[in-house]
Order: sequence, then structure tokens, then C-alpha cells
Amino acid sequence: TESTEEWLQQYVDDWIAFYRKHTHEGEVASYIPVLQEANADHLGISIIGKNGTNIRSGDTDVPFTIQSISKVLTFIVACMERGISYVLDRVDVEPTGEAFNSIMHLEMKQVKKPFNPLVNAGAITVASLLEGKSSDQKLEPLFELLEKMLGYRPHLDIDVYESERDTSMRNRAIGYYLLEMGYLESDLNISLEAYFKQCSIEVTIDDLAKIGMILANDGFDPSTDEEIIPRQVARLAKALMLTCGMYDASGKFAAYVGIPAKSGVAGGIIALAPARVRDEELPFIDGCGIGVYGPALDKQGNSIAGIRLLRHIANKWDLSIF
Ligand code: GLU
Repeated sequence: TESTEEWLQQYVDDWIAFYRKHTHEGEVASYIPVLQEANADHLGISIIGKNGTNIRSGDTDVPFTIQSISKVLTFIVACMERGISYVLDRVDVEPTGEAFNSIMHLEMKQVKKPFNPLVNAGAITVASLLEGKSSDQKLEPLFELLEKMLGYRPHLDIDVYESERDTSMRNRAIGYYLLEMGYLESDLNISLEAYFKQCSIEVTIDDLAKIGMILANDGFDPSTDEEIIPRQVARLAKALMLTCGMYDASGKFAAYVGIPAKSGVAGGIIALAPARVRDEELPFIDGCGIGVYGPALDKQGNSIAGIRLLRHIANKWDLSIF
């Protein structure tokens, strides 16, 4: 009803104002020079329900690059192109407990494949599995999927892409290690280029909320009555988000917030409340998607105020899947 929506809106407005004060405890990412230009005070949230209800608050219209959140999407595309078992033969589904760009764990643990598709080693491997001879060909199905979900075709932030590419020593080191181990299915440079480009796609919190809502509904978009992602692939993506989505704070996020989510170093977080029947007072939150933007990050690289805001809302609205 309208009054429920007004209440939700007021609630979210209040908590955005409250958690915005927490942004100063974090810092914007600086290892990619262009990301440093972000405004550390920004904080915004967009929540889209499966009935189309949209609650938005704070800095809702600031575009940012999707960064690591793209790893969920290329994993989905690879599974759709190659089949789940083909992909899982080449990249595992285990959390690392290490930083997203760790090289050490790859060698130390004598793994037969990268730990999971949401850390860089796994994501670069997944980029190598995508079909196509150039990085643009590899990413075309990703852009088509995004266009289907969002109703428009997002574009690359070229400045971020170039900045990312030109400061990519660590990712290249990971890439050469993967190459040496025989994990890559296509040319290293093309795979890396695809990876840098996928990270540089520009999105908004509304986009993340919409994608989250579709994942919350197992790949089905209630607004068009269309299955966009196969159910099994969507489920797998959510399991990975829950176990590996928040860098080396994934365990804490699962424990204290309890919903699948994935963050990126530009300050975005995609989160979702898987659809199930519950609280009839708030049907809106069942199967909703959430997009958050707050570029001031904590030590693990997650939006510092964004995580606190999500934790608050998840607890208040009983979103935990447990
Ligand atoms: N472009 C980033 C990198 O690989 C993605 C990192 C992230 O969002 O975690 O360095």
C-alpha cells in the first residue's frame, strides 16, 4: 500500500542520513588512480521489489564502475555458454580467506584450479573461458545480458579502463601464473583485456538493484515474465556471492547480514533477498534486489557505510536467509 511505501522510504532516508556520517571512517580506492577521484561522502541505496516497487535514497544518480561485481556476471555468462560442469571443472567454488588479488595462495596451496570465480585468479580464468577471439567478442554476450536485464546497454568508463590497464602489474602477474599452470583457455592478453573492460562497465545503484532482483527470483524477471538466467546458474551465483562475495570479510557478512552480496572497489555493492514466502506486512522485501554505492572503503575493500547500512536494514527487515 502507499502508506507502507511511505514508511519504507522514510525509514531508508533516516538511515542513509545516519550512516553517511560513517563514510569518513573509510577511504576511496587509490590503487587505480582514477578511482581516487570519487567523492568519499557519497552514499546511496536503491531497492527494487519483485512487484516493481522502488525505494531510493541518498546519492542515487552517481554512476560508478561495476568492478568486481562483474565477476558474478561473467561467471553466469560462462555457465550459460559452456555449461555449469565445464566451468566448474576449471574453477572451484571455495572461499579463499585471502585478499581478492592474492597470488600467494595460488601457489602455496598447490591447487588444481583457482579457488573461485569471485577472486581475480578465478575471474581471469573465467574471462579466458568466454567465447570469442577478441575481448569485445568475449564480452558481447555480457552486454546483451545486461541490456536484457536493464533495458539499456551500459558503456565502458574509458578513463577507468585505461587507468586499470596501465596499473595492472599484479593482475598480469596472476595471469602469467595461470598461464604457466595451464588454466587459461585463451590468449592471456585478450583474457586480461576482457577482465579490465568488464571491471570498467559503468552502472548505477538502480542497475545493481534490478540485477539483484532478478537473481533473487532465480533468474526470472517478474516485470517481463521472462527467464533471463537459468535457475540453476542463478542459484550457483548466489551461493558464490554468499560464500565469497565480500572479499575476506565474506564470513562476517554472511554471519551478520546473511544475504548474498558482491562488492566492488569503486564502492558498489549488489545484494538481494532470495524470494520466499514470509512477512506479509512487507511483501515488497521478498525477492527484492538492492544496490548500494559508497566509495569510502574499509580495510577489506568493501563500502564501509554501505555494509553498515545493509546490516542495519537486513536485521530490521529480517532479510537473513538463515
Ligand atoms: N579492477 C579491480 C582489480 O582487479 C577489481 C577489483 C575489485 O573490485 O575488487 O584490481
